[in-house]
Amino acid sequence: MKHEAKNNASPPSSSSPPLTEFGLIARYFTRPQAGSHPLIAQGIGDDCAILNSGTHNLAITTDLLVEGTHFFSDVNAHALGHKALAVNLSDLAAAGAQPVCFFLALALPRVDETWLAQFSGGLFTLADAFGCVLAGGDTTRAPHIGPSYGPITVCITALGQTPLGQAHTRARARAGDEIWVSGELGAAALALRMRRGEVQLASTDAEACLQRMDRPQPRVALGLALRGLAHAVIDVSDGLMADLQHLCKRSGLGATVQAHQVPLAPALRTQSEGLQYRCALAGGDDYELLFTAPPHAHEAVLAAARAANTPVTCMGEMQAQPALTALDAQGKPIALTGMGFDHFA
Ligand code: ADP
Ligand code: MG
Repeated sequence: MKHEAKNNASPPSSSSPPLTEFGLIARYFTRPQAGSHPLIAQGIGDDCAILNSGTHNLAITTDLLVEGTHFFSDVNAHALGHKALAVNLSDLAAAGAQPVCFFLALALPRVDETWLAQFSGGLFTLADAFGCVLAGGDTTRAPHIGPSYGPITVCITALGQTPLGQAHTRARARAGDEIWVSGELGAAALALRMRRGEVQLASTDAEACLQRMDRPQPRVALGLALRGLAHAVIDVSDGLMADLQHLCKRSGLGATVQAHQVPLAPALRTQSEGLQYRCALAGGDDYELLFTAPPHAHEAVLAAARAANTPVTCMGEMQAQPALTALDAQGKPIALTGMGFDHFA
């Protein structure tokens, strides 16, 4: 680095409350000139940055997975390789971008060839399925800290492309748009509770939920099919209501969700209503697409989803007043505390 970055943030006073994940990004890493380079069509704040590139836009995203924070130490390495790329392809899907290539940065405590063979197997099986090429990266040893080695850290940066002007963002929803979500929600959150010993599941349900947590399927085909139809798109990584709130803030709108119409993962359907709402509305790691489209496009959205072989459900409406509400089957608002995952909450 040639010079230290200057930023305009004032240092915290001792009485300042601790910053949240999004608060710290806003205060220290979001700078007014961030969008000013002529090649940057969109900078911080969306699933992908969007760059102008001749007749195309490039969508770029990066995601970091850290052992102990994002995955258990005993995770299957093949599944980890899959998931590390899948979460990035999910951001490309949200942008409506066709995956092109990715970069892989790894910090490893030791050279374990069995682990490496499995990890790279999971990574390339998914990469090949989407024609996404590994184009570079960086590899280093994780440090020795105290009695043990530092965590395995996997950072992938992925690039995709769209025709010029056709990338989706979170920012273009309009009041009156219908709100849609793909697939079913809550399986990964239920798997996490099971792993922590908080719930018990029958073996087939357990297997299905673990599969959803460990091997999410990025909705790339749906993202492409929604080009020209959806007004705003985000992928559900932090939890449905939290990600809807991100979309609402970026679009300057509010939303009402019919929570009883939110599609539930099969294993959730026999659980208590409270657990259903906590997992489907506030759980994370679903990697489904949440999007808005005008009501007149309702049939076209269904046709696009069918063509992409991806189920979608209409379950809410965007509105001008900036409130976010989830209603139960009786039309009563559901209390939504802790609506999404914040790494520093
Ligand atoms: P996603 O869940 O789609 O990966 P996040 O909610 O994690 O997105 O991040 C919100 C926005 O903040 C994104 O545009 C992301 O690129 C940006 N962001 C996150 N961390 C940083 C950082 N350390 N510096 C700059 N931008 C960041
Ligand atoms: Mg995202």
